[in-house]
Amino acid sequence: MTTAKRLGLTTIALVSMGASAAYYATTMAMKGYGVSSSLNYLVLALIAALTILMLLVFWRSVHRGMSQVARQLCEMADTGEIGLVMVRGSNELTEVTNPLNKLLTGIEEEVESLRSEKRELQIQSRIASAEKHHTEAIIFSISDAVIVTNRFDELVLANEAAEELLDFKLNTSLRKNIDRIVSDGSLVRLIRETRNHGLRSIRKVVEHSIDKNGVAKTFTVTLSCVAASNDEVSGVVAVLHDITREKEIARMKTDFVSNVSHELKTPLASIKAYIEMLIDGEAEDEQTRCEFYDIISGETDRLHRLIENILNISRIESGVVKVVREPISLTGVVKRVIDVASPQAKLKSIELEERLAPVFYQVEADEDMIYQAAMNLVSNAIKYTPEGGKIIVEVSVDERRGVAVCGVADTGAGIPTADLPHIFEKFYRVNANKKLAKGTGLGLTLVKHIIESVHNGELSVTSEEGQGSRFGFELPVLK
Ligand code: ADP
Repeated sequence: MTTAKRLGLTTIALVSMGASAAYYATTMAMKGYGVSSSLNYLVLALIAALTILMLLVFWRSVHRGMSQVARQLCEMADTGEIGLVMVRGSNELTEVTNPLNKLLTGIEEEVESLRSEKRELQIQSRIASAEKHHTEAIIFSISDAVIVTNRFDELVLANEAAEELLDFKLNTSLRKNIDRIVSDGSLVRLIRETRNHGLRSIRKVVEHSIDKNGVAKTFTVTLSCVAASNDEVSGVVAVLHDITREKEIARMKTDFVSNVSHELKTPLASIKAYIEMLIDGEAEDEQTRCEFYDIISGETDRLHRLIENILNISRIESGVVKVVREPISLTGVVKRVIDVASPQAKLKSIELEERLAPVFYQVEADEDMIYQAAMNLVSNAIKYTPEGGKIIVEVSVDERRGVAVCGVADTGAGIPTADLPHIFEKFYRVNANKKLAKGTGLGLTLVKHIIESVHNGELSVTSEEGQGSRFGFELPVLK
């Protein structure tokens, strides 16, 4: 029998008992049983009072039990901790609490399993987010431009190099179609084509030109499809590697080979021609023969210089050069250079002015190398200064800084600002000045190596196009 039923029946029984007692008392009173009737009234009143008391006790016990159940359920709701409902001092509610506890146990097991699933998902989500950050960090650290699109051609990832190259901001461009972000139509086409071809052509590499601030740059674009787990294409990764410099170096090397061949051929052809003339007896008198010998000797020197330049650069670069460091007079070395170069300057009617510090100032250096460096600067000044120009060769000593300075200033063609940072690079020749003189683009490389790498000195240049240039180097003066 359920508690409710039991409760109902007990109430009915007690109420019936009370009612029957009341009826019995009333009847007796009406029949007029004198003294004993007052006794009966007392008994009846006692029965009624007892009945009400029992009812009260019963209801109080049930109410207390229900309150305990309600409080425990509220606590469970507040803390989220599900446990069993316990009712102390009352057995009336066991038929309610037993199924309730069974239900709560089921719920608790369910909640526990959901909690462990949640924990598992949280761990997986943390791992996925760490992996995402790691991948992004890798992509951001790549110096090549990287852009990643999804299968709808929307941008999903790009690094700073890509933002800079293609002129967009990642945070405002995410999930936008690539053709709304990248103005370079052919690059957009390449990405679309790669996605369309799908996994048949996993990777392709194409050469592509991009105009950046008016300067054409060449890139190799490596396009790869990203495969999703169902073997479908989930996107495209495009990596743009700048090969402008490599192409420039390749072009410079080709130029160098043809320049060197030309430089070698010209003196060789001249030597061969004069020797043939001598063999054929075309130099009839001693004076003509001497002139021919001088030319042959001069051309041989030219050949020797060219080969020496190439060899010296490669020796310094590979670190096998033998440096003979000794106290030398910079003025003395530069004086010898001027003496050798003067005839060349005279041929072009160039005024060669010397402003030399006293010879007793000494620097510790390799005399042959310093001679070579100064000679290259003076010959360049003569080569790139038109007829009638002026060159000032100067050696001064800055006592305060303790350095000897050699400067070669000319009124020649000058060097365009854009070329200035490159003129010390191997094989680099200024386009605008190529017609003025032949060369290999090695002279200044050698000067830089000699002054900076071998002697720890400083080389400087200032130049204004059409106005002239000033090259200078300084070395610590010996005390
Ligand atoms: P090159 O054999 O071509 O003269 P260099 O290395 O000596 O090679 O010089 C590199 C380039 O710098 C030259 O091609 C030339 O265009 C430029 N240059 C060097 N010196 C001068 C100068 N005094 N005036 C103008 N241009 C110069």
